[in-house]
Amino acid sequence: MSDTMEKDILRGGQFLVKETNCEDVFTLEDLNEEQKMMRESTKEFVDRELWAHWERFEKKDYAYTEECMKKAGELGLLSVAVPEAYGGMGMGFVSTMLVCDYISGATGSFSTAFGAHTGIGTMPITLYGTEEQKQKYVPRLATGEWFGAYCLTEPGAGSDANSGKTKAVLSADSKFYSITGQKMWISNAGFCNMFIVFARIEDDKNITGFIVENDPSNGITLGDEEKKLGIHSSSTRQVFFNETKVPVENMLSERGNGFKIAMNALNIGRIKLAAACLEAQRRIVNEATKYANERIQFKTPIINFGAIKAKIADMATNAYVDESACYRAAKNIEDRIALREASGNSHQEAELKGVEEYAIECSILKVAVSEHVQHTTDEGIQIFGGMGFSADTPMEKAWRDARISRIYEGTNEINRMLSVGMLVKKAMKGHVDLLGPATAVGEELMGIPSFDTPDFSALFAEEKDMIARLKKVFLMVAGSAVQKFGPDLEEHQMLLMAASDILIQVYMAESAILRTEKNAKRFGEEAQATQIAMSKLYLYRAVDIIQQKAKEGIVSFAEGDEQRMMLMGLKRFTKYTNQPNVVALRTQIADKVAADNGYTFD
Ligand SMILES: Cc1cc2nc3c(=O)[nH]c(=O)nc-3n(C[C@H](O)[C@H](O)[C@H](O)COP(=O)(O)OP(=O)(O)OC[C@H]3O[C@@H](n4cnc5c(N)ncnc54)[C@H](O)[C@@H]3O)c2cc1C
Repeated sequence: MSDTMEKDILRGGQFLVKETNCEDVFTLEDLNEEQKMMRESTKEFVDRELWAHWERFEKKDYAYTEECMKKAGELGLLSVAVPEAYGGMGMGFVSTMLVCDYISGATGSFSTAFGAHTGIGTMPITLYGTEEQKQKYVPRLATGEWFGAYCLTEPGAGSDANSGKTKAVLSADSKFYSITGQKMWISNAGFCNMFIVFARIEDDKNITGFIVENDPSNGITLGDEEKKLGIHSSSTRQVFFNETKVPVENMLSERGNGFKIAMNALNIGRIKLAAACLEAQRRIVNEATKYANERIQFKTPIINFGAIKAKIADMATNAYVDESACYRAAKNIEDRIALREASGNSHQEAELKGVEEYAIECSILKVAVSEHVQHTTDEGIQIFGGMGFSADTPMEKAWRDARISRIYEGTNEINRMLSVGMLVKKAMKGHVDLLGPATAVGEELMGIPSFDTPDFSALFAEEKDMIARLKKVFLMVAGSAVQKFGPDLEEHQMLLMAASDILIQVYMAESAILRTEKNAKRFGEEAQATQIAMSKLYLYRAVDIIQQKAKEGIVSFAEGDEQRMMLMGLKRFTKYTNQPNVVALRTQIADKVAADNGYTFD
C-alpha cells in the first residue's frame, strides 16, 4: 500500500478536524459488479423467503427463522465476512455491510438472528480464535451447519457488561473450566449449536471469553422464549450454565481478555446494526409512498397534502443520509484493514485494529440510524392512518421491530457517551489533534469576525462552509467542557449527550454532502437534483439540533462574559448567509419519491 493511501485514509474521529475530499468517500454508487450481484441476490432472497412470509414471523414461527437461516447459509450469505481459509467468501467489509443492509428489510426477527450469528456469534472466533479453534468452528458457522449465539448479558450485568457473575473454575487436572451462571436475552439461544460465553475466573478484574458447545447433557438449560414487543420470531431466551465443562483449549484469547473481545465484537456489531436499519427504512418509504399515492381522501391522493409530503421527504432524506454515512465508514474500515495487511499484520489482527480504529464512527452510526429507523416507521404508521395501527399492514410490525435497535449492541445512551469519550481518549493519546483546532476556535472567538461576503455560488459551497463551522461548535463546547471538568467530564452525562448529538449530526450531514458532491461531479447536478435537496434539508435540520444542543451545554457550564462570547460564537458558527427554503426542498424531494412510487436513490 502506498504512502499516498496512508495519507488519504482519515483515522477514526479525524473527520472532525480534517477536511475530507468528496473523491475520497465511498458511496453506494461506487459498488463494483460483484457487489451489485451480491446485493441483488440478497434482495431476491428477502423477497422470496422473508417478505412473502412475514405473517409467519409475526406468529412466532421460530422454526421458520431457523429454516431461513439454513437457506441463507446455502446461498453463502452467512459466509461473506469469513476468510476463505475457513470456508468463507472472504469478501471485504463493504460487501459484508451490503448483505447486512439488504437482508434487514423484511423483518427484524431475521436480521437479529442473522446479526447474532454472523456478527457477535462468529466474529469473536474469527478475530480472536486460535488456528485450531478457527478450523474447528468457523467453517461450520460459515455454511449454516451450525449456528452461534453470544452470551454476555446477565440479569445483573447489562450495560455494565464487565460486572457479570458467571464463574469459570479450573479443574484440578487443569484440563477444563467448569462454567456456572445465568445469561439473559440471548438471541438465537433456541436453535444455536454453540455459545460465546463470558465468565470470570477467580476474582479477576476482567471477564474471560469461552467457546461453549450447546450440549444439554453438559449442564446447559434454556429459559422459555421471552415475550417481546417486537422481533417476534427471533429466539431470545435465558441460558443457564450449571458446572458446564469447557476444555481449556476453548478459552478465547487470553484469560481476562473477555471484556476487550466483547467490546470489539460490539464495535463491529454496531456498524452492522446501523446497516441493518437501512433497507428497513427504504421499504417503509416504498410502502408509505405506494399507500399515499393510492389512498384518496377529500377526493385527492393523500400524497398531495403538504403534511404527508413533509413526512415522505424527511423519511427519504434520513435513509439517504444514513446510507451515505454507513458506506463511507465501511470503506474507511476496509481500507484500513488492507493497509494493515499490507504492512504485515495478519488478516485477523488487521481486521481487529481496522474496526477498532473507527469505533467512534461505529457508535455514531448505531445511534443515528437506529433513531432514524424508529422515526421512519412511526411516520409510516401515521401515513397509513388507522390502517397503520392494524397488524394486517407492514407498518405496525416494522415499528415494533425497529424499537430494539436503540437497546441492544450497547444502548444509545451508552453509545452516545462512548462516542465522545473515545474521541477525548484519542486526543489524549495524540491520535487525533483536538487541542490545536480547539485552541484556534478559542482564538477565533476572541477575534473580530470577518465581514467579507463569501462567494457561495459553487454547489455546496455554503453547506461545506457550514459543516466546517459546525465542527467548530463541537470543538468550542466540548473543548471548554474538557478544560472545565477534566477527567470528571464523564460524570457530566447531560453534557456528554449534548456533545454527542453535535458530533453525530456533523458526521451524518457531512457524509451526505460528500456523497452528493462526488456524484454531482460525475453524473451532473441535474441528475442529482433530489439528492442535493436531501443533503441541504438534512443539514438544515442538523444545524437546528446543533444550535439547541450547544446552547444547552454552554448555559450549563459557562457564565458571564464567557457564556456571552460562546453564545455569540454559536450564532456566528451556525448562521446561514442564504437560508434554504425548506418547504421547497421537502416538496421537491417528496414529489420525486411520489413520482417514482418509492425510494430510488440506492
Ligand atoms: C431482544 C434482545 C436481544 C438481545 N440479544 C442479546 C444477545 O444475543 N447477547 C447478549 O449478551 N445480550 C443481548 N441482549 C442484551 C442487551 O445487549 C442489553 O439489554 C443492553 O445492553 C442493555 O442492558 P440492560 O437491558 O441490562 O439495561 P440496563 O443496563 O439496566 O440499562 C437500563 C437503562 O439505563 C441506562 N444506563 C445504564 N447504564 C448507564 C450509565 N452508565 N449511564 C447512563 N445510562 C445508563 C441505559 O442506557 C438504559 O436506558 C439483548 C436484549 C434484547 C432486549
